[in-house]
Amino acid sequence: MHQVQVNSTKELYSVGKIVCLGQNYLDHIRELGSKIPDRAVIFCKPSSSLLPDGGTIEIPAYSDDCHHELELALLVGKSGKQIQGKNALSYLAGYGVALDLTLRDIQSEQKNRGLPWEIAKGFDTSCPISSFIPAEKISDPNNLQLHLKVNGKIRQQGNTNQMMRSVEKIIAEISNFYTLETGDIILTGTPAGVSRIESGDHLEGTIEQVGSLRVSVA
Ligand code: MG
Repeated sequence: MHQVQVNSTKELYSVGKIVCLGQNYLDHIRELGSKIPDRAVIFCKPSSSLLPDGGTIEIPAYSDDCHHELELALLVGKSGKQIQGKNALSYLAGYGVALDLTLRDIQSEQKNRGLPWEIAKGFDTSCPISSFIPAEKISDPNNLQLHLKVNGKIRQQGNTNQMMRSVEKIIAEISNFYTLETGDIILTGTPAGVSRIESGDHLEGTIEQVGSLRVSVA
């Protein structure tokens, strides 16, 4: 799947790049024992990592520690570069629920060796994603409750008002590095509570006003 849908409009978007922000919630930085970054931590997942709602996660055989990270997803609706924060929301077509699945063991190994950690983040099925709600339906994306349940138990809980960079700031900052194009997706970082998922687990991520996402692990 390389297309995503905006609810009610039935509009389909072909997905380009998926740009992810790391370390955007203070409590998650603390749980990983990381330092607060001066500059935004940005990385990309390939569009081949997308997994539609209802899909099955396949953890690669080279990892034994796949973590869930629940994140608010932004769908870019028009192209722009060096976007101003005050205009940033007008570039969005919709909001969705995503997981930024992370092979924490591989990521730590790569970090320790000073190497890029794409293989920990970009594997097939590493980006489960819901359909999108039209952007105009969300009056304030910076104040939305989000939570993730695994097998019915809450593992992650937070509010986008805990993000160190607001949605507007994220769009502005990323667009200084990359031209944002229609169909690009941005993941905005995860709150605390990340933990290991295992074969047979059922995950349900929910973001207030936006919707929910259900996937399971093979
Ligand atoms: Mg993440």
